[in-house]
Amino acid sequence: MLKKTSHFMREANFIGGEWVGADSGATIEVVNPATLQTIGTVPKGGRAETRRAIEAAETVFHSWKKTSADHRAKLLRKLHDAIMDNQDALAELLVMEQGKPLAEAKGEVGMSAAYVLWFAEEGRRIYGDVVPSPWADRRILVTKEPTGVVGAITPWNFPSSMLARKLGPALAAGCTVVAKPASQTPYSGLAWGVLAEEVGFPKGAVNIVTGSASEIGDELTENPLVRKITFTGSTEIGKLLMQKAAGTVKKVSMELGGNAPFLVFNDADVERAVQGAMIAKYRNAGQTCVCTNRFFVQEGIYDRFVEKLAEATNKLKVGSGLEDGVQQGPLIDEGAVRKVEELVADAISKGGQIITGGKRHALGGTFFEPTVITEASPKMRLMEEEIFGPVAPVFRFKDEEEAVAMANDTSFGLACYFYTSDLGRAFRVMEGLRYGLVGINEGMITTVEAPFGGFKESGLGKEGGHQGIEDYLDTKYVCIGGLGL
Ligand code: ADP
Repeated sequence: MLKKTSHFMREANFIGGEWVGADSGATIEVVNPATLQTIGTVPKGGRAETRRAIEAAETVFHSWKKTSADHRAKLLRKLHDAIMDNQDALAELLVMEQGKPLAEAKGEVGMSAAYVLWFAEEGRRIYGDVVPSPWADRRILVTKEPTGVVGAITPWNFPSSMLARKLGPALAAGCTVVAKPASQTPYSGLAWGVLAEEVGFPKGAVNIVTGSASEIGDELTENPLVRKITFTGSTEIGKLLMQKAAGTVKKVSMELGGNAPFLVFNDADVERAVQGAMIAKYRNAGQTCVCTNRFFVQEGIYDRFVEKLAEATNKLKVGSGLEDGVQQGPLIDEGAVRKVEELVADAISKGGQIITGGKRHALGGTFFEPTVITEASPKMRLMEEEIFGPVAPVFRFKDEEEAVAMANDTSFGLACYFYTSDLGRAFRVMEGLRYGLVGINEGMITTVEAPFGGFKESGLGKEGGHQGIEDYLDTKYVCIGGLGL
């Protein structure tokens, strides 16, 4: 059924099936990054509220895990349909708190629905094994069980779909969830509570708590009832959560920072490379963990690539995400703009040349000009630090070996992209790059059917694909003896 945007904008937490405020009555303001106006508040919950959510999730887990896979799949299909029926309203809510262009927000909400549908199906394929027994009178079974209560912590850049990747597999597997959305974008998270309630998930299966990140995080990681922590966010916080989760040996899945390289070889199709570069760089104003952080372009094609990239970059329409035709919205907040400014200043001080952009946008607020910097070099901070903004630094390289070495010279290993028309090179470079996601002649590759996840300090575990449900399951070995066969 069609609902208004305001229907989804809940200024309360969803705990044990009830909509409640924080115990203290404290709230957090939510700001529209395009206007810098406060659009509402959400509860500033802490440990006690989180503990109650965990207890509610634990209580219902015992009955939820016993429901049939088919029952769970049907509810998840209903959830998918409810999301798609309300795609426009949910997308508008997302733009209001996050800032991305409406078309991108619709894409994200569609992706959320797609994850839910994918895992509705995958939940029906949680197969075990019957293993040939080494004993004549015993049989060996291997079964999969839901892990239990899941603590899910998500960031502000994809406030809807990052929860979909966690709620979808958790619920399909028979787990229950306590989720903490980012404080900048809580409404898209709370909307999952509205949807879960309306679709008819049992009370307590989905809980959404907003508030103090450290308090909620501490309770989720320390409470022994929580058996798994799934987190998408910075590597710094991911490491902290892993340390805290170690105290009760929880399973952890971590989708952390990236430092994506984008390699363009002399034999690449330049038009195609620029098209891929635009989406790999400027989607969500550069605020995605798979956004290109560093372009490496071979000498012979460098000038042509830069010229075409700058031309396309210049044409990007910057503005409020709700305006027609806008391709780049504001950055999430003032802190994000300052970080981008610092990285640009550092690059200039070390020989970088601004070809286009380079400063705050004339629109003011947190808008930043789409920027191309040439003559980038490894001593610049943006070689290792995530820019998380619309800035494209272009490095120059001589040969394949040097390109792969520079691309791998980072502690991160999430996404990478490269463009070549040489099949042998495609395989060599693909095998040489230490990254969990590789786009060859493609700039945007995320899809529900494929396992998303990083190498090295970019994380642990996979989201999407048939792998995406494994992290929510415990494997049990059963030996049946005395069969007298
Ligand atoms: P970003 O820099 O993209 O905001 P963060 O890693 O800081 O990334 O935030 C991602 C998510 O982690 C957000 O929901 C944030 O509130 C949460 N978070 C931040 N600090 C902590 C913490 N100490 N414990 C638990 N969660 C945290």
